[in-house]
Amino acid sequence: MSDLPSRPLGRLRDVELTRLRRVGERRGAELADLGLRSVLDLLQYYPRTYVDRSRWAALDEVALGDQVTVMGEVQRVSARRTRQGRSLVQVVIGDGSASMTISYFNQPWRERQLRAGSQVLVFGMVDEYRGTRQMTNPATDVLVGSEDAEPSAPRRVGRLVPVYPTSEKLSLSSWEIGALVEEALRRAGPVLDPWPAEVVSALGLLDRSAALWAIHAPRDQADRHAARERLAFDELLRLQLALALRRRQVELFGHGVAHPVAAGALGPDGNDSLVGRLVARQPFALTGAQRRVLDEILDDVAAPVPMHRLLQGDVGSGKTLVATAALAAVVDDGFQGALMVPTEILAEQHLASLRRDLGGLTRRDANALGGHRDVEVHLLSGRIGAAARRATLAGLASGHVDIVVGTHALLSESVQFHRLGMVVIDEQHRFGVDQRAVLRDKAWGSHEGTVDPDLLVLTATPIPRTAALALFGDLDRSVIDELPAGRVAITTTWAPTPEAATNAWQRVRSEVAAGRRAYVVCPLVEEGGKVEATGAVAEFGRLAATELAGLDIGLVHGQMPAAQRDAVMEDFRAGRLGVLVATVVVEVGVDVPDATVIVIEDAWRFGLAQLHQLRGRVGRSTWPSWCYLLGDAPSSDGERRLEALVATTDGFALAEVDLELRGEGAVLGSRQRGRSDLRLASLVEDTELVERAHQVARDLVAAGAADAAAVREELELLGEDVSYLFKS
Ligand code: ADP
Ligand code: MG
Repeated sequence: MSDLPSRPLGRLRDVELTRLRRVGERRGAELADLGLRSVLDLLQYYPRTYVDRSRWAALDEVALGDQVTVMGEVQRVSARRTRQGRSLVQVVIGDGSASMTISYFNQPWRERQLRAGSQVLVFGMVDEYRGTRQMTNPATDVLVGSEDAEPSAPRRVGRLVPVYPTSEKLSLSSWEIGALVEEALRRAGPVLDPWPAEVVSALGLLDRSAALWAIHAPRDQADRHAARERLAFDELLRLQLALALRRRQVELFGHGVAHPVAAGALGPDGNDSLVGRLVARQPFALTGAQRRVLDEILDDVAAPVPMHRLLQGDVGSGKTLVATAALAAVVDDGFQGALMVPTEILAEQHLASLRRDLGGLTRRDANALGGHRDVEVHLLSGRIGAAARRATLAGLASGHVDIVVGTHALLSESVQFHRLGMVVIDEQHRFGVDQRAVLRDKAWGSHEGTVDPDLLVLTATPIPRTAALALFGDLDRSVIDELPAGRVAITTTWAPTPEAATNAWQRVRSEVAAGRRAYVVCPLVEEGGKVEATGAVAEFGRLAATELAGLDIGLVHGQMPAAQRDAVMEDFRAGRLGVLVATVVVEVGVDVPDATVIVIEDAWRFGLAQLHQLRGRVGRSTWPSWCYLLGDAPSSDGERRLEALVATTDGFALAEVDLELRGEGAVLGSRQRGRSDLRLASLVEDTELVERAHQVARDLVAAGAADAAAVREELELLGEDVSYLFKS
């Protein structure tokens, strides 16, 4: 490496770690095992934590039961097997004030890792063995290995000592990693700042080179925080820029179709439009929020740029009707719509509701007698027979079918549209970003070449704003933030004991006696499928013989033939059954307004969003409703979920709790694939930074500044092909 002035960070990806003085072949291989191959990898291998030299406890001060961090030098190491055959490595550490024994059970590799003379940092609880204070299996970091050279300036002078993640595989100590980082930083020289100087100074951010030094060797806490903020912002801005550019791409090159009929559909002159007729035939008026959101959608549909919109709303806020109206808007213009949902049950239910809402309505058709014909809604799922499938496929290709509802079967290559105008994806977070792209990029339709359909993405339950920005920052957002009037609150009760549960069963009986209906949701089983079905069958039998004896009870689970399940659902909907015992197949979308009680067994096994969805099966009319969460929670996370659910019915608030409990890794999950660039930034803690990055990204793109060579090179750090996003 030569010392060029200001090189782009990305260039360091091409410099192999073996170029460093201290990295030979053996060490290079070891680092590669951890995924560290280039100088860039190393610079982004951030400390796991920092220890404040002035804060840790002296060994002669610690008392039994204390949870402490101590630092000392390893004096002796011994290894043996206990009488039970477990491996035991014991280490004596001393810090000048006293010494202490540390015992590691079943970690035989500690014998290799911890050598006399190493400096270690140990965090754990002080216990006692045969009258002597000691620690058992504490978290341990090797700060300085026994063979490390004498620490050199400047990193050793700071009060904060970085602690790098080390592992069983890595023989390097935290200090050695620090020394490597330091060499890499020194030899890399100044790193180019890819963002315009005004942006960096307006946001009060640290310079990038300074931030890289400071994250690895901070002078003090303020230094460390400033470094973290700068580097976290860079991560978020890269992500948001990619999203903003993707959005621009759609605006520039998307071949959308303008559907002018959509423009006035909700207005006074829209009464004849399909949307107008659809809305007018509802037994209720749209809520203000539904109207506002539908207006936003119809504006997009009327415009020539393809729509890319996320529709969020709480459970029961009436997203389905809005989506139906969106589909109707393109059908009215002679185009087709597709609604993709994650499960067969949901597909069948949406089919029924679309047929109910659009049934008997006509659309313009030059080929038909009188110029009009009925709107045709079809199903495409794994369950329909071969003949029905062929008919639907033919109808889609010819244009006879106006709307198709289906599962991922819609992604199949055999699906060809005549003129696809709108894709609605429901319950998006069951699908991935990847599938969204497949659906959008699929060569839909052959009407005058390839056209990009309008895209509307619906989420089942709200997602936190930061997560929405990180996942869907390329989409416009509409939020239905209002429930239909007259909805009565759902009373949620957590009944941890069987005694407490008797109230739940009494409530089921009294509500069914009053003509209402109840769901009983069976426990979630890890292995799923057949096991779950077996459990549901058993629970159904038990309830029928005990708590719910004498009631008309039905059973549905995922392993049942579709026809049988439909019959049961229909009996429940119509009131011939008072109680429906079910597995999570009822989780999403099932809409039976007369249902007023839901009892969820072993509720702690379910995720928060799932519980909120399940609870949303009741409270769908003006009847007061109840949700009972049965079972004790064996974990504190489970407890927090159930407490949160009791405390609020606000899905947006619950989404925040969920993100906090599960962390962004779980929330973004594989949907973030290829963009797992968030090492420092946190969607939970950095909400303001996320917003700022989102705004800065849009501003830079709007100002044309995003096409600068430096920005382009920076975005290559995302590890995916982004070249197509830029103007050449
Ligand atoms: P979501 O999909 O948002 O959870 P749904 O679209 O299933 O909610 O709507 C829940 C229930 O509310 C349905 O029975 C629907 O017919 C009804 N509904 C929708 N909009 C309104 C409204 N404006 N006023 C009264 N009821 C409505
Ligand atoms: Mg719904």
